[in-house]
Amino acid sequence: MSIFSVDVEEWHAPLSHRGIAISADQQRDLHPEIEKILALLKEFKHGATFFILGSYARQHPKTVRLISESGFEIGSHYDEHVRIDGLSRDELKNGVASGVSTIEELIGSKVLGFRAPFFSWNDHLPDILKELGLVYDSSTLPGFSFLGGRRTRSRAPHRLDNGIIEVPVSTFMGFPISGISYLKMLPFGLVCFLIPKDYVLYLHPRETCQDLPRLNVSLKLRTLLYARQDRTLPLLRGLSGLRQFQSMEASLRSSGFIS
Ligand SMILES: [Zn+2]
Repeated sequence: MSIFSVDVEEWHAPLSHRGIAISADQQRDLHPEIEKILALLKEFKHGATFFILGSYARQHPKTVRLISESGFEIGSHYDEHVRIDGLSRDELKNGVASGVSTIEELIGSKVLGFRAPFFSWNDHLPDILKELGLVYDSSTLPGFSFLGGRRTRSRAPHRLDNGIIEVPVSTFMGFPISGISYLKMLPFGLVCFLIPKDYVLYLHPRETCQDLPRLNVSLKLRTLLYARQDRTLPLLRGLSGLRQFQSMEASLRSSGFIS
């Protein structure tokens, strides 16, 4: 079974560690984009997991509640959009705890899953997730991307030494086919060939928005932020005809990882 995941953050989150400032008139409310994604998920009766940044949740509590009340799983995407690899154990634990408690207070239920910003990694992460009562992590992209990537012992869901379940996102020969921002650059026939039977997809609400403010950034970032935005929803519809998607939690329950 395939998994649909959404990393919920402000549209300029990929720029957060590059010191690029956003002015007030360059902010965009992504609530309408999230509504588009929710409508598509409901139309195709997909499940999905939304990994939400703590700082985003504090700014947009109504959006978080809408996602939760629509019946979709909510996980944590950390508290602020920073790489976690350079953080001390205490810094990381405080950030994970804050991000998780922000979400739990808003939705009134337990958060089970975590995904780090930028698919970054910190060796303290599994133990911290366990100490805070989380069950699984999906911070691993076993290949290369604009943002990061890390080798892992298996491309399929597996248990780490401390019992936390790791759910890597999908790659093909190292290419991050999990990311809609990459996949939308390819012809649909090639997409059909590349995606595996058990496919882990991720996207961001900014990827359906066609009027993001134009910033003078590198070609790499312009491609990531602006290229072929009109292709995202048709691509998701096409993929919906190929795969039935579910949330991470539902997938881990049906495969026996969570009882
Ligand atoms: Zn992110």
